[in-house]
Order: sequence, then structure tokens, then C-alpha cells
Amino acid sequence: SNGKTTTTSLIFDMLRRAGLDVGLAGNIGNSLALQVAQEDHAYYVIELSSFQLDNCYDFRADIAILLNITPDHLDRYDHQFQNYVDAKFRITRNQTSKDAFIYWSEDPVINREIARIHPQATLYPFGSNEQNVAYTDGTHLVLSTRPNVLPLRVSLEELSLEGKHNQLNSMAAGLAAQILNIHNDTIRESLQQFAGVDHRLQYVATIRGVRYVNDSKATNVNSCWYALESMNTPTVLILGGKDKGNDYREIDQLVLAKCHTLIFMGKDNSKLIQHFEQLGVKYISTHSLNDAVQAAYSSAHEGDTVLLSPCCASFDLFKSYEDRGAQFMDAVRNL
Ligand code: ADP
Repeated sequence: SNGKTTTTSLIFDMLRRAGLDVGLAGNIGNSLALQVAQEDHAYYVIELSSFQLDNCYDFRADIAILLNITPDHLDRYDHQFQNYVDAKFRITRNQTSKDAFIYWSEDPVINREIARIHPQATLYPFGSNEQNVAYTDGTHLVLSTRPNVLPLRVSLEELSLEGKHNQLNSMAAGLAAQILNIHNDTIRESLQQFAGVDHRLQYVATIRGVRYVNDSKATNVNSCWYALESMNTPTVLILGGKDKGNDYREIDQLVLAKCHTLIFMGKDNSKLIQHFEQLGVKYISTHSLNDAVQAAYSSAHEGDTVLLSPCCASFDLFKSYEDRGAQFMDAVRNL
């Protein structure tokens, strides 16, 4: 559900650094069909959303990755979470034992489904302990898919992408690269140097001692959870937009622990107001980006972070999440 673009882009970076002839396709950039027609590559790294998987029948991935499954797009799946889960698991369809299936071993939904459907592919779990082929040990990320080669160890502090969620994305990407026999040094270099993807926890500027971060791509509650989790200063959170059936309880604890003010930014903020009023957090309700940025500017103190991580789709006030992120960055730079 979250981390697809980041992980896809990171794998692409690794394969390119390894000198492979590789295309990036799917939910990102040009469609796979167009690329195959125009400039065929030896390898493709493809980002697949559940909507695309819904229509996959013969597709067979040599290496498939499932990062996590949390409720999203439920309005498009008859409000039945299992329909969405089934769509995600179509990625394992047609895989044989020669193929690899990389997944986060601490996701309860993924585990339940694996136990239920027994995918044919060879399993490559990643997580937070040594029972996984990729894991974090508190100080390092360790990749150990190769029986006769020393595991790759990279210091967590040296990973270019910050936050726990990005440690997971980095493990998934590193596993894919190791399965393709890419040299450990190349994987390490990519993990340390990859520049990140716009609108995902993107640093914008520091103004009067306040850091502004653009996480406009956080279009569901779970990705906001990870953004908040990675905050290590008091935070002013800007959230709101088109609600897709959100349950904000998921972020209650982190909001209480990290946010002194919430700024709501949407056409209709009533659901947010109702939820967070009960929680007893200070909030300001706005209906435009400029008002939201101004409210954040007035509320933030030196040393704080202002985080745009909306939990919602953007279509009530913006063309897209990219438009929302770009307008946010412009408004911040004009402060
Ligand atoms: P997607 O393409 O699946 O929407 P992105 O890579 O664009 O995912 O990231 C979107 C947002 O999701 C990020 O801004 C971040 O807050 C959050 N995120 C990224 N990776 C993960 C992960 N592995 N688990 C949970 N949240 C994540």
C-alpha cells in the first residue's frame, strides 16, 4: 500500500548503477506496454498498484515484492478490505519456485495470506530480526541472501532515505538486487547515495529555525503514521483533503506524542474536527493552502518541524498530490 514508488525507484537506481539495461515502468513514468514497444530493455522494474494488478492475468514476475497491505482505496473495493488484499496478492500469481517473492514478514495481513494461499515462489522475508534474509539489528541493515558470500552490512545512519519505513524499503530493494547478483558494493553505494523521490518526506527549507517538510504523497493514514514516526522535533502537522474512508485513530498516539498543533486543510474539515476535538489537540481549520501555511508559520516555534502529510487525496483543492506538494513548497519559499 505504501512505499511502492520509493522502492521501485531505488531498485532502478541499483540496477542502473550495476550497468544493466533497465527500464522503469508501470504506475511510474511510461506504461510497460509503451516501453516494450518503443525501447525494449533486458530488465524492467515495474510499480504495480492494485488497480493494475486487478487486470493482470498472464503477467509473471521473476521477482515480486509486497511491502505492506493497509486499508486504502476502499471506496473502489466495495469497502471490503479482503477485495483489496486479493488484488495485491495477484502479484504472486503465475510465479513458480524459480521466482522470488520478497515481503515484509511483520505485516499481519501478508502473513495471514501467505499461510492461506501458499505462494509457489521462493520466499524472501525482511523484518527486524535474524530470522529474515534481510533485517535491521539496531545499528545496521543486513542483507544475507547469498549462502556463500559475506552478508552486506550498511550502517542505518548512512542510509540516504530516513525513517523506519525507508529502512523497510531499503531492505526490499537490496534483496531484489542481491537476487539479481548485483555486487554488494553497488548496493551499498545506492543505499547511501540515492537522492529520494519528490513529495515523499522531502525537505523544503528552514525558516526562522523551523524545518518544513513536504510529504504530500502521504495520501492515506498509514503513510502519515510513518512520517510522524520519523519526526524527532515537536511538529505542526498539516492534514486533510479528500477523505477515502479514513480511520484517524491509527495516528492518535503519534499525534499526542509529537504534534502541538494540527492544521486542517480541506474543503470539508468536519470529520477531522470531530475526531481530533475529542482527542484534545489544538487545531486550526483552513480551506486553502496559503491559509494553512500561514497558520503553520504562526503556530510553529524555533526547532519545530512543519510537516505536510495529509492522510487524504488532494482532489478537493488540487489537481494532484504533485500539485499540492509543489504549491506547498512555493508557499513555504515565499514565507
Ligand atoms: P506509494 O508509491 O506506494 O504511494 P511512496 O513511495 O510514494 O509510496 O511513498 C508514499 C508515502 O508513504 C511516503 O511519503 C511515506 O510517508 C509513506 N511510506 C513510504 N514507504 C513506506 C512503508 N514501507 N511503509 C509505510 N509507509 C511508507
